[in-house]
Amino acid sequence: MSEFFKERVVSEPVACPIDVYDVELIREDFPILSRRVHGNKLIYLDNAATAQKPEIVIDAVSEYYGSQNANIHRGVHFLSELASGLYEEARSKIRSLINAKSDKEIIFTRGTTESINLVAFSYGRANLKAGDEVLITTMEHHSNIVPWQLICEQTGAKLRVAPIDDNGDVIFEAYQKLLSEKTKIVAMVHISNALGTINPIKKMIEAAHSVDAAVLIDGAQSTAHVSIDVQSLDCDFMAFSGHKMYGPTGIGALYGKQEFLEAMPPYQGGGDMINSVSFEKTTYAELPYKFEAGTPNIVGAIGLGRAIDYIQKIGYAKIGQHHDFLLHYAHQALSAIDKVHIIGNARNKASLVSFVLEGIHPHDIGTILDQNGIAVRTGHHCAQPVMERFKLPATTRASFALYNTKEEIDRLVEGIYGVIKIFS
Ligand code: PMP
Repeated sequence: MSEFFKERVVSEPVACPIDVYDVELIREDFPILSRRVHGNKLIYLDNAATAQKPEIVIDAVSEYYGSQNANIHRGVHFLSELASGLYEEARSKIRSLINAKSDKEIIFTRGTTESINLVAFSYGRANLKAGDEVLITTMEHHSNIVPWQLICEQTGAKLRVAPIDDNGDVIFEAYQKLLSEKTKIVAMVHISNALGTINPIKKMIEAAHSVDAAVLIDGAQSTAHVSIDVQSLDCDFMAFSGHKMYGPTGIGALYGKQEFLEAMPPYQGGGDMINSVSFEKTTYAELPYKFEAGTPNIVGAIGLGRAIDYIQKIGYAKIGQHHDFLLHYAHQALSAIDKVHIIGNARNKASLVSFVLEGIHPHDIGTILDQNGIAVRTGHHCAQPVMERFKLPATTRASFALYNTKEEIDRLVEGIYGVIKIFS
């Protein structure tokens, strides 16, 4: 189990990032953090599932419905133009956040899942045939497995899987060996939600491009943690969700290189994605609208734009330092508990810790912690192949955000001792 990490990290002193930012001030931005659960102060450690929302995002949603609401792109009236402007402004914020070349490369979707399905069913269906291969890794979320299985069934292509080692790192040599002229698409997660592994995606993208495969990055866990530059990474597609980066649910985006998106057929048909329609022939709208059929989640996009403002105001450098501190502190504290085994000790990790406690089922741990107001996630984390790889039915996962504190980790540790006591 975590001997590797124990040796490497536990012996290193944890530096407290007092100067990074005032976490108590940050916490005041998130109204939900002051609520109580079962009579206890809420300790929210389920951020990899969804992050809490700062007041400016909540306000953006209520301002929109209170004074800006109209359908976009189709109206000449004041409100429609106002809403259209705000929606497009949010697109530009995403473009700038991930350093895409053009707003045309940013497609609003419901989130990571829909973004991956869009690529599988548009790019995949048009470009895969029997004998071709799609390569993923063992640590994918179900949203980056099932769409590819569906499209492989429809096209006759084969799904290949790059293995991971006991620490939760992709075995790079094995990944490289699986790449061949048959590989048409590589779809891989940047940061694993089950293990916390940060994959060396730049190197992996380069290797995939050396066999001319298109590369999709599942960035669901990335945008809350690290700064992304799609041009420097050179990925062909990247998918992410707003709700994991302090934005609303039901909104996210797909980044795609313009030349890829131009060549792809529409994913869904309907209003807004057309140029002209007749019963004989329909022509499609320009990018990005070709992929945005129907009335979109306008308020979601605007809220996501505000969440991006919030992240950028603090800055990824400071967020990263704070997350690193929480990760190291939690690793140290949890691995010091007898019978706790940390699952996932990758070379490079994001701020989440998955663990098992010998002899106690994760659901029991989660339920008892909940009684103390501590929200953690238990289960397979929509990554059943990862559980299978480690021969586990489930883990308990504590995942940290920019508002979590060292004291909250202390409370988690106390809570775990409480669980042990109940079961002893
Ligand atoms: N990929 C990863 C790595 C995730 O963590 C998640 C959400 N848990 C998803 C994909 C799916 O994201 P969403 O449910 O927001 O579409």
